[in-house]
Amino acid sequence: MPQMEDGQSFDQLEPSTEGLGGADTPLRVAIVGSGPSGFYAADALFKSDVNVTVAMFEKLPTPFGLVRFGVAPDHAKIRNVTGVFAKTAAHENFTYWGNVTVGNDISVAELREHFDVILLAFGAQTDRSLGIPGEDLPRSYTATAFCAWYNGHPEYRDYQFDLTHETAVVIGQGNVAMDVARVLALPADELAKTDMATHAVDQLRTSNVKHIHVVGRRGAVQAKFTPKEISELAEIPDCDLIIDPADLDLSEADAAELNLPQSKTNQRNYDILKTAAETGDTGATRKIYMHFYKSPAELSGDGGVEQVSLEINEMKGEPGNQWAEGTGKTEPLECGVFFRSVGYKGVAIEGIPFDDRKGVVPNVNGRVTDGDQMYVAGWIKRGPSGLIGTNKGDSAATVAELLGNLPNLRPAPGRDDAAVTQLLADRGARVVTYEDWTKIDAAEIERGKAAGKPRDNFTRIEDMLALLDD
Ligand code: NAP
Repeated sequence: MPQMEDGQSFDQLEPSTEGLGGADTPLRVAIVGSGPSGFYAADALFKSDVNVTVAMFEKLPTPFGLVRFGVAPDHAKIRNVTGVFAKTAAHENFTYWGNVTVGNDISVAELREHFDVILLAFGAQTDRSLGIPGEDLPRSYTATAFCAWYNGHPEYRDYQFDLTHETAVVIGQGNVAMDVARVLALPADELAKTDMATHAVDQLRTSNVKHIHVVGRRGAVQAKFTPKEISELAEIPDCDLIIDPADLDLSEADAAELNLPQSKTNQRNYDILKTAAETGDTGATRKIYMHFYKSPAELSGDGGVEQVSLEINEMKGEPGNQWAEGTGKTEPLECGVFFRSVGYKGVAIEGIPFDDRKGVVPNVNGRVTDGDQMYVAGWIKRGPSGLIGTNKGDSAATVAELLGNLPNLRPAPGRDDAAVTQLLADRGARVVTYEDWTKIDAAEIERGKAAGKPRDNFTRIEDMLALLDD
């Protein structure tokens, strides 16, 4: 019986030499998106006993999604997963269609004309907003845009972040908030050694930010960051991590929550915060202040954000399911630059079913509800949660569902790569192949050598294409 890597079996599946997925008729899957969930889905397909080809469509010339544009530059080891993805891309039945925007260069219906299955894995493109007065003031930014900017995402290349003020406020206590706080606090010389985009290093070098307030609406026990990330905040050179010890007093519900089997990460977080609270202020140049039980109520300022009004919260609910409720009491916090970091949100592509409120594609076990032979994996399936590796099991589950349904799938009418190539050429799209990407990759590594960093990424699509077409 064919086995998925994670031990799942395709019990329902009887591979045959006939029909879709048999020796004569490979199952043609178009994956939309080249981030971790797309690559893990391709890998799961190739590891099955089904004869399958994968065409991966990506709107940027470069693959790997948030591994390139989301992971913080000082977390180089996390980026090493691209080596695993490169092995998948080396499969003889894999093709990469970079620089092609599905829904713009080619419609979903046109894809369906030539591919038996469409597997959506395009992640969450934007972020959630707070919906509070003053959120759109100058110097109020989104963490997602800041991360994309310092990672050299072409669409964020020309964003401006005003870091001339001394006090920054970051709302949210997930790992993205940790990344933002750390990048604001790390010495520029440390950042210059990473693959952070050069334009971002240059601007962070001139940053005046000294006080970074990281604000969580719930308590230390409920914080969403993971132990490694909170530890890193405590280890930044010439920077103090400051926590009010009173915020670490445990309520009865908190103590019970920490004892729940699922609270191991929270317990480690809590221990790290406790140690940091004991160290306190050592007079370092930069300081990161952790705030708990506070929600932003309003941003105000003359010509730009100068102050955040924070509402004090109290906790309600049972251990393991506690939420924050505003008390109506507020306190002001000085704020020269503001980052909201309250989660990513998916955006629809024309021609697919979409739940606007949740920002996901409605699905049952990865099979798109009301989709025509359409499947979904990753953040656009389940929402923006989990680490990169979480997507491996998630994508494998979608692929198991897809292959379990194989006997019911109809072959697409066209099934012709040459027709897709022609259609894209007619529309003036310059398709970037995987071989093209390897040239971009090699050039970025070479540029990095000159700049004394692991790689110096291109941040403009025209520069990538010029390299290929010279
Ligand atoms: P996240 O982990 O979901 O954290 C979102 C934070 O925003 C939480 O603290 C949440 O508080 C808060 N929040 C949400 N709505 C809010 C509101 N209206 N007002 C105030 N606070 C609000 O999201 P993320 O940080 O964007 O990360 C997304 C995923 O990527 C996570 O799974 C994360 O672990 C992962 N990631 C991992 C790494 C890494 O491995 N180093 C780096 C970056 C991201 P509540 O808890 O109360 O909801």
